[in-house]
Amino acid sequence: MVTLREAIELSDKKGIAIGHFNFSNLETLHAIFQAAKEFEAPIIAGLSEGERKFVGVSEAAALVHKIREEHNFPIFLNADHSYSFESVKEAVDAGFDSVIFDGAKLPLEENIEMTSKCVQYVKNCGRDVIVEGELGYIGTSSTLLEKIPEGVKIDSESLTKVEDAKKFVLQSGVDLFAPAVGNIHGMLAHEKEPDLDIERIKKIRQAVKIPLVLHGASGNSDDDLRQAIEAGVRIVHINTELRLEWKKDLAKALEEHDKEVAPYKILEPVVEELRDFIKSKLKIFNNK
Ligand SMILES: [Zn+2]
Repeated sequence: MVTLREAIELSDKKGIAIGHFNFSNLETLHAIFQAAKEFEAPIIAGLSEGERKFVGVSEAAALVHKIREEHNFPIFLNADHSYSFESVKEAVDAGFDSVIFDGAKLPLEENIEMTSKCVQYVKNCGRDVIVEGELGYIGTSSTLLEKIPEGVKIDSESLTKVEDAKKFVLQSGVDLFAPAVGNIHGMLAHEKEPDLDIERIKKIRQAVKIPLVLHGASGNSDDDLRQAIEAGVRIVHINTELRLEWKKDLAKALEEHDKEVAPYKILEPVVEELRDFIKSKLKIFNNK
């Protein structure tokens, strides 16, 4: 079975992207795995700090590792947006396959320093763990938004600059890089998402020479996602759209099973709907 590093390298060769989907409940995790299995594509299940707190750090690792072993299938576990060294360390020690140190709100030098500290820790942990760094603030909340998150600006001057990206990647030693290129965390409730700056993605990718990760891809058009992947994005994060889908499917299932009380019976159709939603995204990411 491929490792996460090999899966990313393979995606890079093929010019496609791996899907990253967040979970904080069992039905979503099952849907992530089932979709990937049917699609025969490696997949990343991720948990933010909030999601990790709810599921449990070692519990999440045990669940994903067990699915991987039992089914001999490349499903990987990522510590999405870790805001401190301690949070990164906790996930690495628990057996996560990759970690994201999110210093996007810090000044560049401080972000580099903190990210390097995480890279150094991971290098000496005795396993091959992938480290992702972020530069450029895109908000923090995976939810429906009334407006662009406070502190986020979508103009050429505010997006991640090519020179800063190059410096950040070179000095921090990360494996993956997440820029701000018009993407935002969360999804605008009443208007279209900003367009992605495809040219900026291309230029950053050429400068940093490592695979890029697109966060906050919920709400971006299929066409924008396909172009971003063509420009060098190798992992795409979907959280908000999956959460909305879960809530909608759950409400429908509760209504349709109003006399039922067994969770596994009520949730069975929810898993199926979530799986189909994830498959529709994998189709784009795999250029099909
Ligand atoms: Zn993110």
